[in-house]
Amino acid sequence: MSETLQKIPKIGMVSLGCPKALTDSELILTQLSAEGYQTSKTFQGADLVIVNTCGFIDDAVKESLDTIGEALSENGRVIVTGCLGARTGNDGANMVRQMHPKVLAVTGPHATQEVMDAVHANLPKPHDPFTDLVPNAFGVAGIKLTPRHYAYLKISEGCNHRCTFCIIPSMRGDLVSRPIGDVLKEAQALFAGGVKELLVISQDTSAYGVDVKYRTGFWDGKPVKTRMLDLVQALGEIAQPYGAWVRLHYVYPYPSVDDVIPLMAQGKVLPYLDVPLQHSHPEVLRRMKRPASGEKNLERIAQWRKDCPELVIRSTFIVGFPGETEQEFAHLLDFVREAQIDRTGCFAYSAVSGAAANALPGMLPLQEREERRARFMAVAEEVSVARLQRRVGCTMQVLVDAAPGLGKKGGVGRSYADAPEIDGTVRLLPPEKISKTLKVGEFTKARIVQVHGHDLLALPLP
Ligand code: SF4
Repeated sequence: MSETLQKIPKIGMVSLGCPKALTDSELILTQLSAEGYQTSKTFQGADLVIVNTCGFIDDAVKESLDTIGEALSENGRVIVTGCLGARTGNDGANMVRQMHPKVLAVTGPHATQEVMDAVHANLPKPHDPFTDLVPNAFGVAGIKLTPRHYAYLKISEGCNHRCTFCIIPSMRGDLVSRPIGDVLKEAQALFAGGVKELLVISQDTSAYGVDVKYRTGFWDGKPVKTRMLDLVQALGEIAQPYGAWVRLHYVYPYPSVDDVIPLMAQGKVLPYLDVPLQHSHPEVLRRMKRPASGEKNLERIAQWRKDCPELVIRSTFIVGFPGETEQEFAHLLDFVREAQIDRTGCFAYSAVSGAAANALPGMLPLQEREERRARFMAVAEEVSVARLQRRVGCTMQVLVDAAPGLGKKGGVGRSYADAPEIDGTVRLLPPEKISKTLKVGEFTKARIVQVHGHDLLALPLP
């Protein structure tokens, strides 16, 4: 190693929290790399550590504060960014600074430039001109923390809603949509760099463009509106020559989503919708101040399934919300059965400091909230497994996530029905044909032979 390279400053990075925080980390890493900094996988091997924090629920706050403490004791030079960085304690002082006064700098979320300023102030950037030319497979899309074959595409920041259990808008602000031309350019670069699955994320994907009044932007010399339908259409077209998947997350059940369903039926984007419903009972939704709470969700979902029978719906729910009666909870159980939600996440309500819901009457005892969660999950799992069972005997397209030794002993992948990290997987058996190989990031057809909990077991086909 040359003298120059030995002097290159190294930065450690810990990224906690949701995919939106992950994309913030990716932006910071891209910038660091472009400026010639190197990354270190350990706290001890780094000259400085950046901790990207989450402040969503109290457990996440604790994890973030613990990680900052660990980074301080093992490295000592720490910059904090992310949602927790924007939070204040009861006395109005910055929570991170209060708990860890030794941190070098604290910023809120999506603050790449502020983080870079703090890095420059504490660890001057290297001057080697060769390090400015860092090879970057994703071009304008920058560095990705996900495995190379799938990537998150953040289309907007912030949220215009004010759900009473959520403090994200107070941390991330109102909706700011990225220009559609930039989003599509990034998607193109990702596919060109080998991404086979693009996961569209935001706080509210259906609201894309509302803040800019659906302004017309440009892509490939053609006008295109900053609007969910136009975005999804364009993404489907860009993905097609690469044979890649486009998956939509955080879509609220507004009537405008109806127009996206035919694109799923035509195979332009995956027939998969992540719709965070949180509850079914109109009164609870009203207390939660949920977007699209006045919509007739059961009817809407039934129509979606009619228009696109392959559609898989993932959703998350909160049980034991303040004032939730047994009758309201029973309404939710019926809803999950009737709507046939394929994949379900569930939280027992827990107070988040700073959330408006804390002031609502009727907080349920922890034990009751947990009991409801268990009862809810029993029903949701029954529905989920029954829906998985229908796949046995079918042939599905599977994107391979892991395949040691070219898959001779099998591997792990996902079908269109499984988003990475949150849904189940397709466990691939060793192929019967000796010449058949499995490669990470490639598709294989597989015949489903069994259901294993939330996963499927499948035989790869030649
Ligand atoms: S839609 Fe509601 S839960 Fe989601 S980020 Fe906005 S305020 Fe929070």
